[in-house]
Amino acid sequence: MNDIIIQNLKTSGVKEIGFSRIDNMPLKNAVSIVIPLSKFVIGGITDKPTFEYFHHYRTVNAYIDNTLLKCGLEIASFGYDYQCVAASQSTGGYKSYFPHKTAARLAGLGWIGKNGLFISEKYGPAVRLGTILTNMPLRVNEKPAIPSKCADCNICVSACPAMAISGEEWSDNEPEKMIIDPKACSDYMKKHFQKMGRGVVCGICIVKCRMNTNNMG
Ligand code: SF4
Ligand code: SF4
Repeated sequence: MNDIIIQNLKTSGVKEIGFSRIDNMPLKNAVSIVIPLSKFVIGGITDKPTFEYFHHYRTVNAYIDNTLLKCGLEIASFGYDYQCVAASQSTGGYKSYFPHKTAARLAGLGWIGKNGLFISEKYGPAVRLGTILTNMPLRVNEKPAIPSKCADCNICVSACPAMAISGEEWSDNEPEKMIIDPKACSDYMKKHFQKMGRGVVCGICIVKCRMNTNNMG
């Protein structure tokens, strides 16, 4: 069954795919996709987002939603249930229905940085994630999740203009809000980036991260 999913997603142009088990969801098998953002567009961000980044952010999200729906329809054609998690949708209280990075990390595709972002092993932090939950029987990653590799680095802590990043390393036992203040982040974006990105994108902690491939030579 994994091969059916992989073939479907590859036909849509997806190159990074992983599988994990999410015990606390009704549909317990997760398919994760990692979509790299344009290095050129990300490279245009300095101390604020750009119109080009906002456009790219939205079109990649739309691509993820459409690609996963296509994959979900194939899952359904085999008689299984599926649920495509929205690429980007708040369900209130700075939360989403299901955090994509939880599944992507359990699938062994990357780890979570002090900036609260998923850091892809292959592409760094400049990615968007997608998730399908399903009861289709799938082989899932059995290897331990990759721990944080931030260590002594605090570049994003210093770079965040909202002072929203605490500097704590993410761990399985710590809720994410202990390392990031989502209200401070959101309030800053709404106040300063309303005209450019409608107050929902920033990009500074992506572009400044030392794991950003643009910073790695
Ligand atoms: S998105 Fe911007 S404001 Fe929010 S944590 Fe990152 S750098 Fe700070
Ligand atoms: S800038 Fe440094 S501390 Fe922040 S997420 Fe990237 S590697 Fe981790």
